[in-house]
Amino acid sequence: MNYVSTRNSSKSFTFQDVFIKSLADDGGLFVPEFLHKYSNEDLEKFKNLEYSELAKKIIYPFIGDFMSEKDLSKIIDKSYSVFRKKNVVNLVKIGDRSVLELFHGPTLAFKDVAMQLLGNFYEYYLNNENEKINIVVATSGDTGAAAIDAIKGKKNVNIFVLHPNNRVSPIQRKLMTTNKEKNVFNIAIEGNFDDCQNLVKAMFADKIFSKEIKMSGVNSINWARIIAQSVYYFYSYFLIEDNNQPVNFSVPTGNFGDVYAGYLAKKIGLPINKLIVATNQNDILHRAISKGTYDIEKVLETISPSMDIQIASNFERLIYDLNNCNDTKTIAAMKNIKEKGKYTINKESLDKINIDFLSSRISEDEVLKIINTVYKKFNIVLDPHTAIGYGAFDKVDLNGNNIVLGTAHPCKFPDAIKRSINIKAELPDELTFILDEKENYDIIENNLEKIKQHIKEKI
Ligand SMILES: *Cc1c(COP(=O)(O)O)cnc(C)c1O
Repeated sequence: MNYVSTRNSSKSFTFQDVFIKSLADDGGLFVPEFLHKYSNEDLEKFKNLEYSELAKKIIYPFIGDFMSEKDLSKIIDKSYSVFRKKNVVNLVKIGDRSVLELFHGPTLAFKDVAMQLLGNFYEYYLNNENEKINIVVATSGDTGAAAIDAIKGKKNVNIFVLHPNNRVSPIQRKLMTTNKEKNVFNIAIEGNFDDCQNLVKAMFADKIFSKEIKMSGVNSINWARIIAQSVYYFYSYFLIEDNNQPVNFSVPTGNFGDVYAGYLAKKIGLPINKLIVATNQNDILHRAISKGTYDIEKVLETISPSMDIQIASNFERLIYDLNNCNDTKTIAAMKNIKEKGKYTINKESLDKINIDFLSSRISEDEVLKIINTVYKKFNIVLDPHTAIGYGAFDKVDLNGNNIVLGTAHPCKFPDAIKRSINIKAELPDELTFILDEKENYDIIENNLEKIKQHIKEKI
C-alpha cells in the first residue's frame, strides 16, 4: 500500500515514511492512495477471531514491506500481552446500548491500544536502522501517558511530551510525570492543548530543527494509530451483530482520530450504519457536522479534558475525502481554517458527511447527570468522556445495536466522579503506587524558541 499527503496527491510514500514522519513535509496528513474493500466472505472469516488475530489481519495490508507478516504477528502479540483483558477490550451491556471498554491497557485510556503497538514498531525500526530519534508529542492528557508507557526504556529513542499546565487531571499528570526512565521528558506548557499541538506542528514544519533532532510524532494524526484503532470497530461489531440490525457507534471525540478509525473501518467494508461524533461543549465538530460550520472558537475547560480541542487535526483527512482527493481544494480549505479560523462545508459535502456521521453535543451539566443516572440504574461508573458518548445516543434517533466507545477508566477523573455521584473512583491496585511517587516535569512558557532550546539541551 502506498500513501500520499492530503496536500500533494502526486508524490507517494511507504508505510515506513508515513509512520516515522507522522506529518507530511508539506503540512498535510498521510492517507492511503487506494483502499481495498473486504467482501462479505472476507468479513465472515474475521468473525470468530481473537482480538490479536483479527488485528494481524486488518493491520498487515496497511504496512507494505515495513515488516514481514511473521514479525508483525510477534509484535502484535507482544503489544497486547500487557492488557488486563485477554481480548484487549471488553464489551458491556448498559441498558439499551453497549459500552466497549477500551481502557484496560497500562495507562487506562483507549490510546494504549494503538500506542503499545507504535512503541514496538519504533523498537523494530530502530533495531534495523541504526539511528536515534526524538518523539515530540502534544497531549490533552491521555496521549502523553500512553506514549510514555509505550516508549519508556526503549533504545535509541527519547520522548518529549507537551501537556497544558494545570489543565490535565492530577492522575493523568502523575501517569506521565512519575516515570523514571532516562528517555522520558515531560514539559508543562503555559497554555491550552491547542497551543501544545501548534508548538509540535511548528517544530515539525521547521525542517532544520526537525531534521537535526530526527523528530518523529505519535499524535493522533499518525496513520499507524488510526489503523490500530480501526480493529476494535471490527471486533465489537462481530460480537454484537444480530439479525441484520444496523450497528451504530458513538465516539467521544476531540481530534477526530478515533472516530476517523471507525470511518476507515467502514470504508474498507465493515457495514457500520452511523458514527456519532460526540463532543463536549468544545463543539466545533458538532457544529461542522450538524450545520456545516467548522468555525474555531476559544477552548473551554471541561471535566472531559481529553476532548478540550478546537482544532480537530484529523478532520483534514475527511476534508480531503469530501473534495474527492483533490489536494488543491484541501490546501485552500486548510488555508482558510488557518487564516480565518473558518471553513464552511457546502450542502453537497454536508449531505455526504451525514451518510456516515451524525453528531451530538453534551453540556457539562448533562455529563454529570449521565454519570449519575447510569450509576443509579446500573451501578456502573462511566468516566466523563465515555458518558458523553453514552448520552450522545439520546440526542439522535437511531435504532439497532448501539455501541459506545468507552475511552477512559473513571479513576482518571476522580473530581468529576465525586461531583456527580459522590464516590471515590479508585485506581486499579497495580497503579496506586503512582500516587506517592515524585513527579518530574518542566514548566515552560508558550514560546516555540524556548521549547526548541529546551529539547536540544536535553538530548
Ligand atoms: C483522546 C481521547 C478522546 C478523543 O479521541 P480523538 O481521537 O482525539 O477524537 C476521547 N476520550 C478520551 C478519554 C481520550 O483520551
